[in-house]
Amino acid sequence: MLQGLSRFQFHCFQCGADSAVSDAFTCPECGSPQSLQATAFPDADLLKGRPNSLWDYQPLLPIPPTTDIVSLGEGATPLVSAPALAAENHLGSLDLKNEMANPTGSFKDRQVVVGLNWARSQGHDTVAVVSSGNVASAAAAYAARAGMRAVLFMHGQASPAKIAQAQAYGATVISVDNPSPQAVFELCIAACKEHGWYHLSTAGIYEPWNVEGAKTIAYELYQQYDGNLPHWIVAPVGGGGLLGGLWRGLLDLKAMGLLSDLPRLAGAQAAGCAPLKQAIDNDWSLEEHLEHPWENPDTIAGAIADDILFDGHTVLPAIRQTWGAAINVTDDEMIAAQTRLARTTGLLCEIATAAAVAATAKLPVVDKNTRVCCIVSGSGLKDLGRLAESAIPVPQIPADFDALNSLLDNAGTDTDTAPQ
Ligand SMILES: [Zn+2]
Repeated sequence: MLQGLSRFQFHCFQCGADSAVSDAFTCPECGSPQSLQATAFPDADLLKGRPNSLWDYQPLLPIPPTTDIVSLGEGATPLVSAPALAAENHLGSLDLKNEMANPTGSFKDRQVVVGLNWARSQGHDTVAVVSSGNVASAAAAYAARAGMRAVLFMHGQASPAKIAQAQAYGATVISVDNPSPQAVFELCIAACKEHGWYHLSTAGIYEPWNVEGAKTIAYELYQQYDGNLPHWIVAPVGGGGLLGGLWRGLLDLKAMGLLSDLPRLAGAQAAGCAPLKQAIDNDWSLEEHLEHPWENPDTIAGAIADDILFDGHTVLPAIRQTWGAAINVTDDEMIAAQTRLARTTGLLCEIATAAAVAATAKLPVVDKNTRVCCIVSGSGLKDLGRLAESAIPVPQIPADFDALNSLLDNAGTDTDTAPQ
């Protein structure tokens, strides 16, 4: 096992220890979860030009170079400016990294494709995940592409549309009747040990490979901003693997001599499930955080309703070491941000992603010169059912020109009365 990784080591962000890559994922010095880290970096020319494919960054990913890569064309997502939202939020500029453009509609494709290719390189034929939806769909799609089996443990927050999407790829979908993601993880991990499946969940405290793909967002942003990264990067936080991975990608850029100062990183959570802000405000260590799971998550943003930070070992230092921020937003603020994003930019994000959009209005210490990038992590097309429930009634007319003109005359500014 663990074939072909001479360019990587394990690094502990809690105590700073380095150790050889092995089956033991915990730090030999302090017992914390470890992260993969490159020990030899490719030439900086790798990051010249514009993003083309996630696999252009393979020298920075812990995949044996001889691997026959399974891909669906993930990565190289657009960076879209949002001048109207920037003006509303009194920012100099606001850009949106459109991760909805990935093959299954969320940034999770980046993580899952790296984890799945690692699993293939180590001889596995089945992957299993715990998910509220996006990881499940990604795992199902990439497993289908690879001719592998996917077993998906869905917990209570998964929307029917996300379950349907995962089923469409032919995966084995199991709904687990337990409100605690931790309890579902324990079941999934036990099943993986019993059956020899690869545990593909994107939770770095259990499996470091599966969160590596998020680093590639940092590499792409470096290219898309011509090396002049914005002052703030904002992302939604569930388990924390997106922001923690993005931070580690920025550290790679620094190690390659391409960056001196890192952007400040902000993590957005639902006020009804906010273990990140709780840990930051209380200045908790990783261990103290893990002893205090968020009790009774209560939010419509199921995709980020994690009771603990499954990547707390990276997302906590990501915030602290970049003078970043943990920002809570209410469900109403998410709904309003989803609507404003759609109406001012043409991008319809999922409600958990809207937490990050809403948080761009709450960043500390900003002015009209502040440049901000928001990671638009997942598509609203995955949860149209919720939008349909709150849609305004559609006017119906006969196929008659006068009836149409009468309707248009009376419509006035009705577009402003749609639900916010
Ligand atoms: Zn350690």
